[in-house]
Amino acid sequence: MSTDTRATAHSDLHAPVIDWFDEHARDLPWRRPEAGAWGVMVSEFMLQQTPVSRVLPVYEQWLARWPRPADLATESAGEAVRAWGRLGYPRRALRLHAAATAIALGHGGEVPRDHAKLLALPGVGEYTAAAIASFAYGQRHSVLDTNVRRVFARAVTGVQYPPTATTAAERRTALTLLPADQATAARWAAATMELGALVCTARTPDCARCPIAASCAWRLAGSPAHTGPPRRGQTYAGTDRQVRGKLLAVLREAVEPVPQSALDAVWHEPVQRARALDGLVEDGLVEPLADGVYRLPV
Ligand code: SF4
Repeated sequence: MSTDTRATAHSDLHAPVIDWFDEHARDLPWRRPEAGAWGVMVSEFMLQQTPVSRVLPVYEQWLARWPRPADLATESAGEAVRAWGRLGYPRRALRLHAAATAIALGHGGEVPRDHAKLLALPGVGEYTAAAIASFAYGQRHSVLDTNVRRVFARAVTGVQYPPTATTAAERRTALTLLPADQATAARWAAATMELGALVCTARTPDCARCPIAASCAWRLAGSPAHTGPPRRGQTYAGTDRQVRGKLLAVLREAVEPVPQSALDAVWHEPVQRARALDGLVEDGLVEPLADGVYRLPV
């Protein structure tokens, strides 16, 4: 297939996916106009490793309490960690707090529009900068999250799963697929993400409901089984991450600094417990005080 033919075939995907999105997109609070760029930014931090259903209540509380970056910036980092609740990967709360502070101090309190300025904020990587610029400001960027990568892997490349980490080839494919005008590109980014979340899911893609089933490369090839490296599982029970979660929950719920004994009570295995606590301290999520008590950072 020549490059020209492929480009034509790619653009054929735009209308069906965007039309499907117009009809089926979930009404999520960060997609409403009133969310603004700050709402989009908060949602992107929260959604990075946490499903929508768990993010929704925390997002609503967060935005009600801190409707602008400057509101969060006036709080301690520990309050951000406390409000993060059980979303997991709580370093994201510290980074969001640091980003809010940088916005308050260096950008007049407004989430920057410019991709490079977004990228320079603490905790904002390539994906998050592209997502904010696209979803909040309607710009043209390829927004490659897990869902989008899976849709492209199947529909375009013809394999069941994308590689473990994003490759240069995937970035090239995403750029080739990106509609030329800004508004359509921004719509395409949101639509492909939603298609991956709702229809082209990791384990059970619902091809019968898919708007691009007729041209999906993986389906046309007979849905061949994955031949790449084994995919990582999502084990949680018994991991250091679980122990960290339990220790942090004690501190989140405490009004005063807590003694070591209160932390010892939530996990039985002392070596793993100490390792988890050391990790939390090292990450700046927990502060050890001189008299052997611990608290969230101030
Ligand atoms: S046809 Fe199936 S595998 Fe292909 S993009 Fe649609 S849902 Fe995914």
